[in-house]
Amino acid sequence: MKKISIVVPCYNEEESLHYFYEEMQKIVKEMSKKAKFEFIFVNDGSKDKTLNILRELATKDKSVRYVSFSRNFGKEAGIYAGLKTATGDYIATMDADLQDPPSLLIEMFDTLESGEYDCCAAKQTSRNGYSPLRKFFTKCFYKIINKLSNIEMVDGARDFRLFTRQMLDSILELEEYNRYSKGIFSFVGYNTKWIEFENQERVAGVTKWNFWKLFVYAIEGIISFSTSPLLISAFIGVIFCLMAFIMVVVIVIKTLCFGDPVSGWPSLACIILFVAGIQLFCLGIMGLYLSKTYLETKKRPIYIIKETEKDLENK
Ligand code: UDP
Ligand code: MG
Repeated sequence: MKKISIVVPCYNEEESLHYFYEEMQKIVKEMSKKAKFEFIFVNDGSKDKTLNILRELATKDKSVRYVSFSRNFGKEAGIYAGLKTATGDYIATMDADLQDPPSLLIEMFDTLESGEYDCCAAKQTSRNGYSPLRKFFTKCFYKIINKLSNIEMVDGARDFRLFTRQMLDSILELEEYNRYSKGIFSFVGYNTKWIEFENQERVAGVTKWNFWKLFVYAIEGIISFSTSPLLISAFIGVIFCLMAFIMVVVIVIKTLCFGDPVSGWPSLACIILFVAGIQLFCLGIMGLYLSKTYLETKKRPIYIIKETEKDLENK
């Protein structure tokens, strides 16, 4: 019988955890003939009672394990810690808010069992409940990142997927500090089947993402999986040199033919501002890559564990 590890990053999820656990128990029952389950909840430095709930669940249910961080390290770190802890033959990553319908796990499991696929992932067909502005920027992001990087990122893909241990081992080989799961899954390859579903509202609690956080996350995704933005400065540099060359020719001819009345400082001021803007923009892009390189070279731990379910036994 196959063992499925369910990895769930949790940050301030005291309101949704019970719902999640109850819903998952239905699936565990339904699949009891085919597979056994292991739950790995990662408490990402929650400030509410999430950890207490996890301790409770782990005490009464031996299939529940948890890892608790010393502070908030972010969802990506949570997923990574969960994946490293997982012992199953198949591994699933899911959100704690039931936005990833547990019932899809059955189809995902059957897909992997057929042997044709290494991974089965969920993708939402609509973005109901999101603001038009967020929908627009999300669309733009996927367009840009797919143009700039040579790996494919699927629009609407969630971090909800079931995959084989072989694929997990490949993912864990990528030990980078700046982790961008969607890119990493795409990078390692393997055969992935996409299942579509209507997007779901959060069962309880609030989203941890605001517009600014998502924007920064999007930029991180692009920086992590494409170096094309670095070419922009080189490209703009060449264009500007050409423009300057043409202008020199025009000015020399104009001066020779019509003399040189002093005028045009407003246009000059505009040009200086424009060029300075472009220079700062390019410097900013380089700075972004440099900062990521800086963090990568420090080799800091991606997360720090303060407590796991094993500590419960010693208490
Ligand atoms: N999450 C986390 N650490 C964070 C932020 C979020 O572990 O710093 C978890 C959160 O508990 C949830 C999942 O990541 O299980 C997705 O978060 P959320 O539902 O807020 O995102 P959304 O679904 O709105 O994109
Ligand atoms: Mg959510």
